[in-house]
Amino acid sequence: MADAPNCPICTMPDPLVSDDGFECAICGHEWLAELGDGIGEVLDANGNVLADGDDVTVIKDLKLDGKSGGVKAGAKMKGIRLVAGDHPIDGKINGRAIVIRAEFVKKA
Ligand SMILES: [Zn+2]
Repeated sequence: MADAPNCPICTMPDPLVSDDGFECAICGHEWLAELGDGIGEVLDANGNVLADGDDVTVIKDLKLDGKSGGVKAGAKMKGIRLVAGDHPIDGKINGRAIVIRAEFVKKA
């Protein structure tokens, strides 16, 4: 788990750590660990940690819901951006904005 954040209500540092989040000892506010930017550690198919700005390669042919065509294995996505949700990789392939799951890419 990342370092404990400051309380989002009163901004005091060093909150108490509970099972799934934090509790502020000053104002009593409780919040889940995932709150904040909502993005946990994102790992690629090989277990490498991905970060904003990384280049990745798609390792699996993907069908894109609701869109024509898809993404072929081997396609490159440059300068990814990590976003919250179960499709945390946001970027462009061949000029098209796409979000995909982290386990379908590897760091280039
Ligand atoms: Zn507080």
